[in-house]
Amino acid sequence: MIKMHHFFLPPELFKQERINFPPPQARQIRQVLRLAAGERVLALDDLGWAYELELVEIKPTGVEARMVQKLPASGEPRTHLTMLLCLSQREKFEWMLQKCTEVGVSTFVPVISARSLARATDVVEKKMERWRSILREAAEQCGRGRIPGLHAPCYLADALSKKTPATPTSPLRLVLWEGERGTSLGDALIPITNHPQPSLQLLVGPEGGFSPEEITLAGSAGYQPVSLGKRILRMETAALVAAAIVLYQCGDVALEPHQSASGESGESP
Ligand code: SAM
Repeated sequence: MIKMHHFFLPPELFKQERINFPPPQARQIRQVLRLAAGERVLALDDLGWAYELELVEIKPTGVEARMVQKLPASGEPRTHLTMLLCLSQREKFEWMLQKCTEVGVSTFVPVISARSLARATDVVEKKMERWRSILREAAEQCGRGRIPGLHAPCYLADALSKKTPATPTSPLRLVLWEGERGTSLGDALIPITNHPQPSLQLLVGPEGGFSPEEITLAGSAGYQPVSLGKRILRMETAALVAAAIVLYQCGDVALEPHQSASGESGESP
């Protein structure tokens, strides 16, 4: 199977037979990837569908493609993992967004806790825009079917009291805590590993860790403390390792048989 380049495009573009790429993607096709007419790319509508397109015209004024086939998008895990990540230093936070998207996290909630290295007042909209483009590029690069969701940063107490849209759904809520001695992350996942669509929320602390009061608050909001073992990991290591353990244990690292040229499994979105 030849790996095609992936692009997320607005869903309304796929209503026509001929697709005109928006200027940023047209520029990328022409100037960065240097693709030629006749080559194929995979466009995604971020609604669960993938479109195999053949490039027919590549000009400085625009790039046009024709629809070859519409398929259910692959690359999306069954597991819906929402990560509540305490805000950290810029590069670290962006690294976590990028790598955890590659691993398969579905939704991110940036959280301001007592020891977070960033505050809510830091120009949020500009940051959100940058974070969204990091998620999109990571999702395109690794072949996800959807761009992970991103919520506006919120205070820990609000996230725990379900004042954010991300928090009400999953019955399994876990907090990574290096002080936990009884339950490992792996143990806590056992109840959901055979579920057809496992769903959980995972709270990851900042470099300075959670305060004892925050762990108590998280416990009373139904977040079970879990350990990643005896070694204390840096925040970004903990986030990535935890995401990988969740996706692995829920069966989302397994290979599925390819049923089409683009590796689609034949399911519907
Ligand atoms: N300041 C803390 C200390 O020195 O004891 C360490 C905090 S750690 C660098 C950052 C975050 O990663 C923690 O808040 C926790 O969520 C997670 N973490 C790191 N190692 C962990 C472990 N072994 N088990 C569970 N969570 C861990």
